Amino acid sequence: MIKMECDGCTVCCKLIEIPWMDSPRGEYCKECEPNVGCRIYDHAPEECLKFRCAYNQVPKCNINLRPDKLGIIFDKITDDVFIGTVNPDVLISEEAQKQVALFVKEGFGVVLFNDKISKPMVFSPKGKNPREIWNEVLRIREFVVTEIQNANIVIHKKFHLNGQVA
Ligand code: SF4
Ligand code: SF4
Repeated sequence: MIKMECDGCTVCCKLIEIPWMDSPRGEYCKECEPNVGCRIYDHAPEECLKFRCAYNQVPKCNINLRPDKLGIIFDKITDDVFIGTVNPDVLISEEAQKQVALFVKEGFGVVLFNDKISKPMVFSPKGKNPREIWNEVLRIREFVVTEIQNANIVIHKKFHLNGQVA
């Protein structure tokens, strides 16, 4: 998960449950040095190395989009879909809303959720069926969405919740 391109962000190694490291959601993985990085990155588990966080995939990405600042970790799970894990302790900022809108405008499906909401929010680009996007999420990242696997989804065209997700 954590690479040089993370610029000192270490939020995914706390916010997301990491079963292969026996690390529950909300606690730092034992190999994480908060705000610095992963102590074992060179030989970290394959699952960590496969994580496709949008921020660290983009060289010289705007620092305001760093997941710990933005409040959402965008993870590109397929060529067409981003999962956004929302920090349950922060409101979705205007910057984060703009980022979702941009992804959708560029043709990506976006699914937002956190462990406090029972209905994941699905944003689908024009011409794409939101249910297909959700099914893709279930197929690819089953371990992340276990708790809300059977939940109904809420389909959004745009934000209208004044920054609230729950
Ligand atoms: S959320 Fe992204 S930028 Fe932050 S530590 Fe994880 S991989 Fe790096
Ligand atoms: S092993 Fe490293 S990259 Fe993987 S969860 Fe732990 S701190 Fe993060």
